[in-house]
Amino acid sequence: MKVCINKNDCIGCGLCADIAPEVFEVDGGTAAYIGEITDKNKISVTDAADGCPVGAISIEE
Ligand code: SF4
Repeated sequence: MKVCINKNDCIGCGLCADIAPEVFEVDGGTAAYIGEITDKNKISVTDAADGCPVGAISIEE
């Protein structure tokens, strides 16, 4: 599983960091990918991608 954040689309709302704080961080108005995706957090990472209001998070299996 691989995560990609389109920083041009990100509006810095912080939702992804709220849902999966071990994987996402919002700094300077855009989200960053900061952590490893594990079996334990992959559901919350998927929820964060699904919940992103601008569709800036994409996931590759
Ligand atoms: S949920 Fe989407 S728009 Fe909001 S901070 Fe994360 S990547 Fe950016």
